[in-house]
Amino acid sequence: MIKLLVVGTVAYDSIETPFGKADNVLGGSALHFTNAASFFTDVGLVATVGKDFKLSDIAFLKDRNVDLSGIKVDEGKTFRWEGKYGYDLNTAITLKTELNVIENFKPHVPDDFAEADFVFLANIDPVLQSHVIDQIKKPTAIVVLDTMNFWIENRFNELMDVMRRVDMIVVNEAELREISKEHSLVKGARKIMTYGPTSVVVKRGEYGVMMMSGEELFLCPAYPLEDVFDPTGAGDTFAGGFMGYIANMGDASIATLKQAIITGSVMASFNVEDFSINRIKGLNYPEIKGRYGAFRNCLQFGDIAFD
Ligand code: AMP
Repeated sequence: MIKLLVVGTVAYDSIETPFGKADNVLGGSALHFTNAASFFTDVGLVATVGKDFKLSDIAFLKDRNVDLSGIKVDEGKTFRWEGKYGYDLNTAITLKTELNVIENFKPHVPDDFAEADFVFLANIDPVLQSHVIDQIKKPTAIVVLDTMNFWIENRFNELMDVMRRVDMIVVNEAELREISKEHSLVKGARKIMTYGPTSVVVKRGEYGVMMMSGEELFLCPAYPLEDVFDPTGAGDTFAGGFMGYIANMGDASIATLKQAIITGSVMASFNVEDFSINRIKGLNYPEIKGRYGAFRNCLQFGDIAFD
């Protein structure tokens, strides 16, 4: 029985960064998410791919208890995204988005997946995200939403409909500003909370993460790396570590959310060290624990020592 359901894209990406180039490599919001989350909990993945997709390339996820039976193979080509980055690795420039099989995708949530306690609506058409919520059977399920400028600009009203029905939203700062029409992240987060979510998690690339949950505000920097190779999927990998940890703990208390943010940041820091899903694919628990500890040491300081 899975604990965490994710619906989103499984893709072939072509990426160019100042440090290299990779063509037709594995990507997609749901795949990056699953790759990270599966270190912490049992994940069920719902997505569609085309006949050109090599399912054997993601079979390794089964060893981490991922249920891949929700992947539908359709006539046509797999979703493709082409992007590039300049030296500002925080901002992806989309060169091409080919929806392909996503255009006719109607996500079907298998019966046993519909009982999951935690649901992540990865970046995909908000119309499809609503369709997933319609199929969730657990009234207490914690539902978390992600999106991107492509959908904010092309499906704003549909996105607002989804927003009313979720518990949390995980977006990057540009997306938060675009949705809320506010420059201040604090004001923007507060405004988004009036639309439905009770917690807003804002990803800020190399500047870390801000979370607003009720009246609580939590800030964390990004783990400082010497070399960042490819930031593609960092946001989804963050979300995978974040939700994987929450599903593992089985609660969404404020203390758990804070640790989940650190876990997500640790996973994202690994993801950017190589192209595609490669770094997280080869990761192990001692590496995760080691970096969590190193990160924690960077963040500790004592009480103020003068009157
Ligand atoms: P991020 O974590 O934001 O870097 O997400 C990168 C992933 O999002 C890539 O692997 C892409 O395949 C995927 N992606 C790009 N554009 C879209 C889109 N419009 N809808 C869903 N997924 C997308």
